[in-house]
Amino acid sequence: MKKLSAIGIAVVVLVACILVFGQKKAVVTDYAMNTVVSVTVKARNAEELAQEAMDEIRRIEKLASPTLPGSDVYKINSAEAGTSVEVSPEICELIALCGEISAKTEGAFDITTYPLSLLWDIGAPEPEVPEAEDISEALVRVNYKAVVTDTRASTVTLMEEGMAISLGAVAKGYAADCVARLLEERGVEDALIDIGGNIYALGEKNIGIQTPFEERGEYFTAKAVEDCSVVTSGAYERCFEKDGKIYHHIIDPQTGYPARSGLESATVISKSSVLADALSTAIFVLGEEKSSDIVKSFEDVSVLVLTEEGDIREFDGN
Ligand code: ADP
Ligand code: MG
Repeated sequence: MKKLSAIGIAVVVLVACILVFGQKKAVVTDYAMNTVVSVTVKARNAEELAQEAMDEIRRIEKLASPTLPGSDVYKINSAEAGTSVEVSPEICELIALCGEISAKTEGAFDITTYPLSLLWDIGAPEPEVPEAEDISEALVRVNYKAVVTDTRASTVTLMEEGMAISLGAVAKGYAADCVARLLEERGVEDALIDIGGNIYALGEKNIGIQTPFEERGEYFTAKAVEDCSVVTSGAYERCFEKDGKIYHHIIDPQTGYPARSGLESATVISKSSVLADALSTAIFVLGEEKSSDIVKSFEDVSVLVLTEEGDIREFDGN
């Protein structure tokens, strides 16, 4: 009897071991959405799921890229002013959400800043500070209120001449949400989605917040989160220096120049990565004081900003 039970225990332990080790961990790292993407999944079929996650990110990139001919955003930007363009329902809804966020952030978040981003061309090999009159000319075309969405017909219309949009400030967050939902549907409870620092954690994780202007992986603080997204916007991601001044890729829609609000970075923690992505950009434009008011109109957001003086300030949404 004793012997039998001993075997029984051994088998149980072995099965448990198989279950533990059966939860394989797979990491897939690739380049997509103009950045390094890494998906880590713990599951029995981890490799397959991580690959599926990467395919989902590429699917969204194909819809949202402003430079890829045939993408929804490309079609919207190519149409004559006032002409409605039929797009996929999810992109129409994403653009409608962008409009709501613009309204709630007093226009600090504005996808119609794209002509300014093209003018600044921060990612160019030798970027230059544009002429003031070119900035004024591009500013005239910035107006989120002139983006009309019809989510029933799934159409988007840019109402004014010369307008163009970019989903650069939300696409990574949107993709992170889509991947998180996909993995959850597959029963995954432990995963880390990292789309160029735009993080979604499934399960409990400690997420480091990047120290600006230091090497990737240098953290000034960390946040413990569970099934949640952590997104940081900063001047350090894409920038150049000219005459001692740093010019970066987050544009203040009021001035047409890279935002200078006294912040080195803005981090938003939320279950919605798309909201965290949009808001981190808006907060970086608005600065600490205005943002602490404005985030009150959003639910489920926690904010952490790093000021130029090196102080960390935290405030929450509603
Ligand atoms: P990152 O792309 O480094 O994660 P953000 O999420 O802050 O940074 O998005 C910045 C991108 O969004 C820019 O590259 C540009 O395409 C676009 N953008 C710049 N300024 C704004 C703005 N005020 N509102 C909305 N989009 C913006
Ligand atoms: Mg953003």
